[in-house]
Amino acid sequence: MMPVHDAVVVGGGPAGTYLAKRLAEAGRDVVLLERTLGPHQKVCGEFLSHEAIFYLKRVGLDPVRMGAVPISTVALIRNHAVTSVKLPFPAVSLSRYRLDEALITAAGDAGAVVRRGCRVRSIRRHHNAWHVEGDEDAVMARDVFIASGKHDIRGWKRPPGRHADLIGFKQQFRLAFPQARDASNRVELFMFAGGYCGLEPVEGGICNISLVIRKSRFADLGSWEGLWEGMLADSPMLAERMRDAVPVSDRPLAIGAIPYGYVRTHSEGPWHLGDQAAVIPSFAGNGISMALHSAHLAARHYLAGQPADRFQQAFARDVRRQVHNATLLSRLLVSPLTQGLLSAGARYLPGAMRSVAAGTRLPLTEQPLVTGAR
Ligand SMILES: Cc1cc2nc3c(=O)[nH]c(=O)nc-3n(C[C@H](O)[C@H](O)[C@H](O)COP(=O)(O)OP(=O)(O)OC[C@H]3O[C@@H](n4cnc5c(N)ncnc54)[C@H](O)[C@@H]3O)c2cc1C
Repeated sequence: MMPVHDAVVVGGGPAGTYLAKRLAEAGRDVVLLERTLGPHQKVCGEFLSHEAIFYLKRVGLDPVRMGAVPISTVALIRNHAVTSVKLPFPAVSLSRYRLDEALITAAGDAGAVVRRGCRVRSIRRHHNAWHVEGDEDAVMARDVFIASGKHDIRGWKRPPGRHADLIGFKQQFRLAFPQARDASNRVELFMFAGGYCGLEPVEGGICNISLVIRKSRFADLGSWEGLWEGMLADSPMLAERMRDAVPVSDRPLAIGAIPYGYVRTHSEGPWHLGDQAAVIPSFAGNGISMALHSAHLAARHYLAGQPADRFQQAFARDVRRQVHNATLLSRLLVSPLTQGLLSAGARYLPGAMRSVAAGTRLPLTEQPLVTGAR
C-alpha cells in the first residue's frame, strides 16, 4: 500500500518551497515535487521587493548575504524621455537561479521530502486522499498544494485573466563597462511598441532583461531576433545600454499565455498558491512577494485546521486591489495610444510614480485568523 502523506506540494518555486518548509518545520509529513533536476533560470525580472525580503528573512534567507544587488531607483524610459524616482521602500535584485535553489534546499533541510525531476501530470481525489501522479512517480496525501507557477496542471487550468494577450521573455547579458556602471542599483523600464522591457543588474556583474509584448505585435515581428531589433529601434536608450553587451545564454527563455489580472477566489479542494492563485503584471515586481505571501497565509490556515477555501478567500482579499491596479496600468503601458501619456504623466508628476509603486504593495501586517492562529 502506498503511504498517505499529510501534504504534497506541486512545484518548487518560491510559493511551494516556502510552504513546504513551514509545514515541515511544524512537524508535518510533506512531499515536494519539482519537475526540474537542478538549478535553473526562470522568466522573471529578478526584482525582490521589501515584502519578498521580509518573507525570505522569516525563513532564514537573507538575499543580501546571498549576493543580491541593492536597488534604489526605478526609471521609466520612452524614446529619450527618462523619469527616475527613488523607490519608496528597500529592494534588491537576485537571480532566480540562486534564489529558487536556496529555497528548495531550505525546504529539504527543514524535513520536507524533495523529489526532483518529477513532472506532475494529474491530480485527482480518490477515497479521501489526493492522488498526484508524475511520469514515474505517484504520491498520495490528505492535502494537495498546487504551486506550479506559470504552468497549469491538466484538469486545473486557470482562466485567461483580464489582460491575457501578452507573452514574456528573459535573457541575461554582460554589459560593457560604462553601461554596466550606469545601470547599477536601478531598474529601468523601457517602453517599446506593444510592450515594455525591464533591465536590472543581478549578482556576478550580470544584467537581466525581461520583457512582455502583445502576442499580435510579436506575430508581426516574427521571431525573437525581429523583436530584439524592433525593440532597440523603438528605444534608442535601450540600444545604447545594450551596445557591446554579450548574451550569457544562446537563446532567451519564453513564456506564453500569462493570465495577468487573474485572482482565484475559491477552492474546490486543493490549495492554490503563488501564480496559481493570482497573477500580477510583471512591471510591479511583486509576483515573488505575492507567491511568498500566499504560502505564508496558506501555512497559517492549514496549521490552524482551516479549509483551503477559507485561505483562498483571504488571499484574494489581500491581493485583489493590487492586482487590479497593476493590471489597469499594464494595459496602458503596452498600448501605443497611452504610452506617451504615461511617460509625460511620470515626467510632470513623479510623485504619481511613487504612488503607483506604493499602490501595488502587499499588506504585511498579520491579521489574526478567525481561529486566532499565528
Ligand atoms: C516577464 C516577467 C517578469 C517578472 N518579473 C518579476 C520581478 O522582477 N519580480 C517579481 O517579484 N516577480 C516577477 N515576475 C513574476 C514571478 O516570476 C512569479 O510571480 C513567481 O515566480 C511566482 O512564483 P511561484 O512559486 O508561484 O511559481 P514559479 O516561480 O513559476 O515556480 C513554479 C515551479 O513549479 C515547477 N513546476 C511547474 N509545473 C510543474 C509540474 N507539472 N510538476 C512539477 N513541478 C512543476 C516549475 O519548474 C517551478 O519551479 C515576473 C514574471 C514575468 C512573466
